[in-house]
Amino acid sequence: MLNVVIFGAPGSGKGTQSELIIRKYELKHISTGEILRTEIKKRSELGLLADEYISKGQLVPDEVIIGMLETILNESKDVKGFIFDGFPRTLTQGEALDRMLREKDTSVAVVLNLSVEGKELVQRLLKRGEILGRSDDNPETIWSRLDVYHNQTEPLKEYYKKQGKLVTIKGDTVEDVFEKITDMLNRIL
Ligand code: ATP
Ligand code: MG
Repeated sequence: MLNVVIFGAPGSGKGTQSELIIRKYELKHISTGEILRTEIKKRSELGLLADEYISKGQLVPDEVIIGMLETILNESKDVKGFIFDGFPRTLTQGEALDRMLREKDTSVAVVLNLSVEGKELVQRLLKRGEILGRSDDNPETIWSRLDVYHNQTEPLKEYYKKQGKLVTIKGDTVEDVFEKITDMLNRIL
């Protein structure tokens, strides 16, 4: 199995690159943000709970997210691998992912860290807010998301660096970033 974590700040392009990766490598895309937004639209119990955190730019509690992931992983049979987009976002989630994959006799192969400058991130998120109307892409919430990323998510970089799995990717265009990602993945495969 090839398990890839796509890592980066809000607006770094995790979703965009994931879509390109799954087309080329036939991996199962698990985007926790997308799953939660679908639940919000359905107004399910999980959606209503998640909405309270997401609209404020906070993280949904670890237990909730880890439980959700556990269900998805157990339901996914016969897949070539996963691309984890937006998960893990805390050290606790990172440790839970390692444990869940170990139970399947597999592990994270690589963590693709999409590195984008702060100013550029804010511009992208504001633009996305205008186009897609996502409840969390507004000026107030964007700051808190970047703050949450810095304080709660960024420590995972060190966690994966120690495991020798962190690869930082920087690029000027979507195509440029994707080319660097494919170079990297082709080397692993
Ligand atoms: P990108 O623009 O790079 O695709 P993003 O950070 O803008 O990413 P999502 O990954 O879609 O957006 O996440 C949106 C929100 O959903 C987060 O701010 C958070 O509240 C919630 N969320 C998503 N994944 C997790 C997670 N693993 N743990 C906790 N909360 C999460
Ligand atoms: Mg996303």
